[in-house]
Amino acid sequence: MEQAQPVSGALRSAITQVLQLLPDMVLVTDRNGCITLTGDACHITLGYTPAELAAFTFADLVVPEDRPAILTAMASLEAGQAVPAFRTRWRHREGHAVWLEWTGVATPEDGFFFAVLRDLTTQKQQAQLLLESEQLYQALFENSPDAVFVLDTEGRVMSLNSVCTRMTGYQPHEIIGRPFYHFTVTGSSTGAMQGLHQAVAGNTHRAESAIRHRDGTCLSLQVSLTPLSLDGRVVGLLGIARDITDRKQAEEQLAHLAYHDPLTGLANRTLFMTRLEQGLARAVRNQPSLALLYLDLDDFKIVNDSLGHRTGDSLLVEAARRLRACVRPGDTVARLGGDEFTVLLEGIEDTPDAVLVAHRILEALREPYTLDGHKVVATPSVGVVMGNQGRDAKELLRYADLAMYRAKRNGKARYEAFTPIMHEDVMQRLQLESDLRRAIEKGEFQLWYQPIIELTTGRLHGLEALIRWDAPNRGLISPAEFIPLAEETGLILPIGTWVLSEACRQARTWQVDHPDIVVSVNLSGRQFQEPFLAQAVEQVLQETGLEPRCLQLEITETVLMKDAAMTEDTLRELKALGVHLAMDDFGTGYSSLSYLKHFPIDVLKIDRSFVKELGHSRQDSAMVRTVIQLAKALDLQVTGEGVETSEQAAQLRAMECERVQGYLFSHPLPPAEVDELLRSGKQW
Ligand code: C2E
Ligand code: MG
Ligand code: MG
Repeated sequence: MEQAQPVSGALRSAITQVLQLLPDMVLVTDRNGCITLTGDACHITLGYTPAELAAFTFADLVVPEDRPAILTAMASLEAGQAVPAFRTRWRHREGHAVWLEWTGVATPEDGFFFAVLRDLTTQKQQAQLLLESEQLYQALFENSPDAVFVLDTEGRVMSLNSVCTRMTGYQPHEIIGRPFYHFTVTGSSTGAMQGLHQAVAGNTHRAESAIRHRDGTCLSLQVSLTPLSLDGRVVGLLGIARDITDRKQAEEQLAHLAYHDPLTGLANRTLFMTRLEQGLARAVRNQPSLALLYLDLDDFKIVNDSLGHRTGDSLLVEAARRLRACVRPGDTVARLGGDEFTVLLEGIEDTPDAVLVAHRILEALREPYTLDGHKVVATPSVGVVMGNQGRDAKELLRYADLAMYRAKRNGKARYEAFTPIMHEDVMQRLQLESDLRRAIEKGEFQLWYQPIIELTTGRLHGLEALIRWDAPNRGLISPAEFIPLAEETGLILPIGTWVLSEACRQARTWQVDHPDIVVSVNLSGRQFQEPFLAQAVEQVLQETGLEPRCLQLEITETVLMKDAAMTEDTLRELKALGVHLAMDDFGTGYSSLSYLKHFPIDVLKIDRSFVKELGHSRQDSAMVRTVIQLAKALDLQVTGEGVETSEQAAQLRAMECERVQGYLFSHPLPPAEVDELLRSGKQW
């Protein structure tokens, strides 16, 4: 400030002090533009010491491009014209430009220019940053893979990015200004409104929603709404939506797989049980109640085994389709596995209503199926139970199964409604089964023997071994009571083995004095299907030393007719051992008479039911006569079973029936009484 002669010492010192304090730069120049006074801010902003500044003029300090502007402004000021503040770039000592706002004052009479220079660099940079950040946001907004939109607090769309247009199929002008929930599907709009309120209240809302595309398709979205606040007040919402339709579909497919049967598309057991539980919970609260049907296709196994699994599968698919068509859309049809189906009927008042549906199902599934050119029949057996008959879902399912089982036992292709007696039956059966197991272990069985008599001579031909169970505290139990269960459970195998060897052992002892006596042993269906039956019989004969000609094996007609080809083979193997073979209970199994010719059997035992009618029913008499004639033509012996009256015996004799068996002659006897009978040499 050494050059400033015109300024008085006191004034100069005052000005200098003021200049030091000012945050803005102040430069004072003489008429030639030479700098005469500066404040501290000058060298802070431009980097020059006051001494260095004194060597410059204004024009030297600005960048060349801005120099004309400065000179023009100074000329205007000198001419007494006001010049508004304007921005110029000044040269920093280190070479870079510094933006300064220039305001000048001139006192032409004194030859001074005052320039006030305000540093704009930071302001400029901030503006630049602002600009850049706006661009950044714009870029984010536009390039986001998600749909981004801004809503006002009423939920109206204020702005949106291009993804929104692509996602919805609508043009921006069709969306802007409309409430965003106009685009959601009916089921989602309530949730969208709630989300809006939550976000307007200041909480970010995240939820899944569904919208309808302009083309009508439905899209699943993951949406977040974030409040945009200004001075603590929510002024709008930032929405981000991602299309999760594919993920949702994949999830739904997985869920579907977890709860459905892949073959038929019906509900699986898990889903069925859940629905049943839910239905039961509802039924308790408000009537009406529900019903459960349990179905099993009769003889499905035969279709599967004979026509192959593919055909079996086609049958199941078709059966499922028919089942669905029999019930209302809200009812649940499930495949529990194999050929077992269940139906949950909701809103059913009473058993007759459920039975009506069962009836409809029977009718629909009774129709033959045409599969791969084959006509196949697979009728169902149906069990019906009402929702209030069991304590919970599991119990109901069990009861429905019991009723279905009963329908099977009562002849298949029918329905049975569950009654509590069925449950008691089952409990009794369970008890019987465990008693039977114990009986095998403890040896509680006995064999009694019923004499078979030569009708012409009245002499004893042989003895049929008939099993008796001497159960503790229950007395002798008849085989009719336990053989069927023993068959079902497979317990007949150990029992049958015991019967065979016990009968052979006993026969061997009688053979000593009565070498021609023949002992008959009944074989169950299950035993007959055992692969090594002939070997097992052979082994027993060897072990007991009984001559094969003294053993007769009885197989019921029904068992023999099951699988004719297999039967023939097994019979031949047995026949090869030298034993006699009898077809038991003939007349009950509807055999095709042609089989009689093929099967290597020796004896036909005419069932008691025909013998009983002899003399009463002309038809039965005629049939017995025909059977006897046929048997003779085929070289078979005939035994009449269950002869109780001398009238029946007389008729059989007249028809030339060779042998008889029945209470008229003798009840089954325990071995000791047979001993006595044999010793007595009794004749009838
Ligand atoms: P089945 O082989 O037809 O035996 C004849 C059945 O008729 C016997 O009944 C016998 O006691 C009965 N019976 C004989 N004469 C008369 C009569 O004049 N009137 C009446 N009402 N019934 C008569 P049981 O001993 O109760 O045996 C029933 C069935 O149980 C047998 O029928 C047979 O199929 C089966 N069974 C008996 N023992 C065995 C066995 O050891 N193994 C197998 N698998 N089944 C057996
Ligand atoms: Mg028999
Ligand atoms: Mg019989």
